Amino acid sequence: MTLWTAADAAAATGGRVTADWVADGISIDTRTLRPGDLFVALTAARDGHDFVAQALDKGAAAALVSRIPEGVAAGAPLLIVPDVVAALVALGRAGRARTGARVLAITGSMGKTSTKDMAAAALSAQGRVHAAEASLNNHWGVPLTLARMPADTDWAIVELGMNHPGEIEPLARMARPHVAMITTVGPVHLEAFADVAGIAREKAAIFAGLEPMGGAIIPEDLPTTPILRAGADAAGAVIVGFGEQGAARPLQVRPDAEGIRVQARILGETVDFRLASAGRHFAMNAVGVLAALEKLGADLKASADGLSRWQPDKGRGAVERLGGITLLDDSYNANPASLAAGFATLAQLGPGRRVAILGDMLELGPDEVAIHRDIASWPAMGDISLVHACGPRMKAMFDALAPEKQGFWAQTAADLCARADELVQDGDVVFVKGSKFSRVASVVDVIRKSR
Ligand code: ATP
Ligand code: MG
Repeated sequence: MTLWTAADAAAATGGRVTADWVADGISIDTRTLRPGDLFVALTAARDGHDFVAQALDKGAAAALVSRIPEGVAAGAPLLIVPDVVAALVALGRAGRARTGARVLAITGSMGKTSTKDMAAAALSAQGRVHAAEASLNNHWGVPLTLARMPADTDWAIVELGMNHPGEIEPLARMARPHVAMITTVGPVHLEAFADVAGIAREKAAIFAGLEPMGGAIIPEDLPTTPILRAGADAAGAVIVGFGEQGAARPLQVRPDAEGIRVQARILGETVDFRLASAGRHFAMNAVGVLAALEKLGADLKASADGLSRWQPDKGRGAVERLGGITLLDDSYNANPASLAAGFATLAQLGPGRRVAILGDMLELGPDEVAIHRDIASWPAMGDISLVHACGPRMKAMFDALAPEKQGFWAQTAADLCARADELVQDGDVVFVKGSKFSRVASVVDVIRKSR
């Protein structure tokens, strides 16, 4: 189906087209480009202009460029603009403007992508859904998502991310959501912010982009909740809190063999749903999603049913039985808040030895070693039988553990992988978590292979 014609793209960007073309998709990577895509020559590690000839060879309908690259034939279908990122933003704005879709924008320190995917699953039987791919949430990921949105979309779900102050507001103004949700606020990217309050103010900037009378879905149980509320109030938003006592709240969360069953109260209605991931934090995110979708105009019961179609991505807390062990693979990323959430989930799983395999958490600022050491004295540690760890920061935690809980510590995840056979045994419940950089996900891979 036609996504962009040369004329529409030229009008949106103010660029010059060299030939008539019609694109039915947008690609930024020739490895995944499909015939008919508009190839956008972004510059990241390498200059996208170096790949334009290849993109056209692979069947790209046209290329969005700021100059005619070498090796590209005269008369090739191009859209030439002064600045490729700015043109992509213009396409995104035009894509947003031409649709009648109801738009949900999601940000948060953790849980953006899984929450976005939950919302897409929840809406899947209620019309045409367009959601951001993977974690496309930055200054080119958001406009790319909007530019890729078919004009006849009914529901759009956009993920907004940030590493530095000031990044969220322009993204929110681009997406112009009817409802904006913050999953949670935690000490992530502390190196770019003075404190967690600063992070909360940055997240709350999402509400500045809301359409008039928009909905603000806010976590209720955080020390920074008042900051989020103030941001939503300033934007004139209709606020719904989700949390233990929120207008949207879980009533009951029961683990079962493949995840959890949840009963929740959403704005006065009681609903039941299944979720494939065991974490209480996921249950809470799902409760927030239901409130968001209710405010967006979706059917609450249909949304709750749709949640069971959500499949967590690899390393995002799915529970699986794996040749004698139960594996809670949360190895995608970690910070103290999500580690605490993972421990709480682990405590509900069993019977059997509870084994935690932990890698370093990054971006925690100058107190990082003390923050890691403290984990050894968390009350939650009482529920854990054995801990293996890797990385110099986790060494501080490991050394502070009671000796009977100490398994192995190693400098790197690769060193732990070498001992895979000794880490777990039949009957164990195994929890794996660490920052991406710790590569603790590789330990999951070897455990999988050995089972
Ligand atoms: P990224 O910024 O890396 O793209 P993200 O915000 O998209 O991350 P997800 O990929 O959805 O986050 O989830 C990553 C992990 O965050 C999950 O595996 C889970 O452990 C944790 N998490 C999700 N939601 C919460 C929450 N509300 N509180 C604490 N931890 C959470
Ligand atoms: Mg993400």
